[in-house]
Amino acid sequence: MNRFEEKVVIVTGAGSGLGQAAALQLAKEGAKLVLVDINQAGLDDTKKKVQEVASNAETLLVTANVATESEVENFVNQTVERFGKIDAFLNNAGVEGKQDLTEDYGVDEFQKVVSINLNGVFYGMKYVLKVMKEQGYGSIVNTASVGGIRGVGNQSGYAASKHGVVGLTRNSAVEYGEYGISVKAIAPGAIMTPMVEGSLRQIGGDNWEEAGKQFVQGNPMKRFGKPEEIGYLVAFLLSTQADFINGAVIPIDGGQSYKY
Ligand code: NAD
Repeated sequence: MNRFEEKVVIVTGAGSGLGQAAALQLAKEGAKLVLVDINQAGLDDTKKKVQEVASNAETLLVTANVATESEVENFVNQTVERFGKIDAFLNNAGVEGKQDLTEDYGVDEFQKVVSINLNGVFYGMKYVLKVMKEQGYGSIVNTASVGGIRGVGNQSGYAASKHGVVGLTRNSAVEYGEYGISVKAIAPGAIMTPMVEGSLRQIGGDNWEEAGKQFVQGNPMKRFGKPEEIGYLVAFLLSTQADFINGAVIPIDGGQSYKY
């Protein structure tokens, strides 16, 4: 499939995990990619992998902290200067933060997680939607989480930020549908990436793999999701095939969020 031939797509958090997997799928389908991350080494790694799957893929790498508004404005401006348009945007960079009970959850930690996961997503939408409104088309996928639609526990900052991402998604979907723009969110369960490894290390230390085996026993499919499974979903949602899906929050979690 070449759903992204001549399409320009921005991916934040593109240097690792889900952002990298989505970038690879989009590259295979012909996208011109603007890859954004705070970690330059991660971006270099993604660029190398992109070239392995799509040797002709055009890429623009931008090192930026999504929690800083001017840096977000800058990567959006750089995209328009280089490519003249933005067809699609995966607003994905995020962190989990430390796990702790609410009473012990540090205020600084709370603010840090919210500033990246929620402020960062807001800045991204603010600047990208302005461009898309002028164009009269575009699609945005925000990365929320099962932690944005359910209580998980020990994650005050993460829960607040991801529930906020769901709210921002629905709000902007209602505002911008009439301009030919769709805004949706994905709510992944546990997908095996460096973030989830870090989370399991918080639970199990050096025995994190054992902690992972126990963790997935609670999932109906008894496994972690794979980053490429997120790549397939994101590519569909960002393509014009999914234009009429607007404001939806799509779980991809093996059924975990439907269980009680
Ligand atoms: P990851 O740690 O593998 O990748 C996250 C990337 O974001 C990294 O490359 C990191 O450098 C980048 N990043 C972090 N802070 C940034 C900042 N301030 N500015 C720019 N870039 C920054 O994690 P992942 O699992 O790929 O997570 C990606 C997104 O998916 C996050 O929003 C996360 O909350 C969400 N998510 C992940 C899972 C999962 O199970 N992996 C589940 C639900 C939601």
